[in-house]
Amino acid sequence: MRTSRLTLARRLAVVVSACFAAACANSAVSTGVVGAPGVVTHWWRDGVCYEVFVRSFADADGDGIGDLRGLTARLDYINDGNPASSASLGAKCIWLMPIDKSMSYHGYDVTDYYHVDPHYGSDEDFRKLVREAHRRGIHVIVDFVPNHSSNEHPFFQSALHDPASPYRSWYRWSSVKPEQPSTWGQEVWHKSPVRDEYYYGLFWGGMPDLNYETPAVLQEMQKVAAYWLEDMHADGFRFDAIPYLVEDGNQLAHTRGTHDVLRQFGNTIRSEAPGSFTIGEMSDGSAQVLATYYPDQLDAYFAFGVAGATVEAARTGSAASFNQAIQEANATFPAGRWSSFLTNHDQPRVMTVLGGDAAKARVAASAMLMLPGLPFVYYGEEIGMVGAKPDETIRTPMQWSADSNGGFSSGTAWESLQPDWIAKNVAAQDHDQASLLNHYRRLIHFRNVHSALSSGTLDIATTSDAAGAAFVRSTSDETILIALNFGDHAVDRFGIALSSAVAGSGPYRIEPLHADPEGGCMGGMISADGKSVTLDSIAAHGFCAFRLNR
Ligand code: CA
Repeated sequence: MRTSRLTLARRLAVVVSACFAAACANSAVSTGVVGAPGVVTHWWRDGVCYEVFVRSFADADGDGIGDLRGLTARLDYINDGNPASSASLGAKCIWLMPIDKSMSYHGYDVTDYYHVDPHYGSDEDFRKLVREAHRRGIHVIVDFVPNHSSNEHPFFQSALHDPASPYRSWYRWSSVKPEQPSTWGQEVWHKSPVRDEYYYGLFWGGMPDLNYETPAVLQEMQKVAAYWLEDMHADGFRFDAIPYLVEDGNQLAHTRGTHDVLRQFGNTIRSEAPGSFTIGEMSDGSAQVLATYYPDQLDAYFAFGVAGATVEAARTGSAASFNQAIQEANATFPAGRWSSFLTNHDQPRVMTVLGGDAAKARVAASAMLMLPGLPFVYYGEEIGMVGAKPDETIRTPMQWSADSNGGFSSGTAWESLQPDWIAKNVAAQDHDQASLLNHYRRLIHFRNVHSALSSGTLDIATTSDAAGAAFVRSTSDETILIALNFGDHAVDRFGIALSSAVAGSGPYRIEPLHADPEGGCMGGMISADGKSVTLDSIAAHGFCAFRLNR
């Protein structure tokens, strides 16, 4: 069994490297790069991405485990391909949490990088998903886990059992247990079950770290990336746990070696598959630390600092954290290369953090979806699904309807649904214009039809109220002012001082463009000197947008 996998890997090495140099670029053009002649427009500078845990999204075969065929059947919910229709979410991208063969329910310990886990379906099911997604204008990115393999992966098993194995140097070994300070109090050196020695695995013994000081490791993982882009037709990757790729003595994160490896991944993927996208998980909220991952490593990174601050502003009603975080991100990171989100599969769900308050969830979404970069929505967030740790209960089955198992499965769901599923589900919110689901749909469609909101610059304004936030998104064609109230009371005479860059490009006429029907704004006057805007009022947790016309 092990032998046949390795033989396949060698065969792919030839096939894939040939394709990677030539054909990859061709397939990327059809699925990625669009725009006027001579203008390279990256697809990921437009739209919103939807994070899917396949195991929990939709189960087609009734075994209680979500699968690729189930997801494919539900693509119209994510985007039905009709830009004028607001009956779907309108996301132009999906990120699938790991779908490679794995020993665990979550999939972050991979045993075979070249095949879909049979619980999720076949490799052909994945290709069909991609075809159906592309038909609707949805790009598909997959989780890529370069830091470690499963301890059950044939590479590790070979290295573990045979000190002469060619894979021995693909992992890190020590005859004595090193004194190694860990990142969060965990053991990072694990006792070999075979002989008197230890191996390194940052997260746990079931996930031994790959050793990038061995050049063959990077070659193999580049081959894996090429395989998913070319043979599987994926549009890019979410890179898992990027700070930890290379260790340097007692420094386990953010090493120079890690940056070098990411640079090689990013540069190779960009040059060989220019229509693809790479985004990294660097979960430290510090802008200064994230800044070290630019300018030339991956295309973009999740802005954990902005995400935490957005949720905090919605929770407390004070905009201070949000204003500071977007100011810092805008000043520190390259434009359009940081992604907003609220929470992901590793964090308590935002509705739980907000104490079940749908109005707070509404303003958090309004803020997050108007920021630059490719925003990410975690499946179920748009209907206000709840969940706290442990991880399984923030990754529960999608609540589609009040049918058995929430419409997720005709069998027994792999994990219990949240207790609120009978009342809180897609079907219940679908036709309710006041629902959170329709709020997300409206916001995403609003973003989709205004390129200033996708790819425009960000200029942060100041407001007259501690609960307020305002900023301007603009391209050469359009200037849009966004106003937000994180507070739980309406604010009258809401003043917005435009940044000097925006004010200096005026004078403007102001025109209402969009308002949250559940809580928008009244009035909207621009001062004679063109430097400030006054709203008669902005509703509690309100959101509105204006066009500034020169
Ligand atoms: Ca299934």
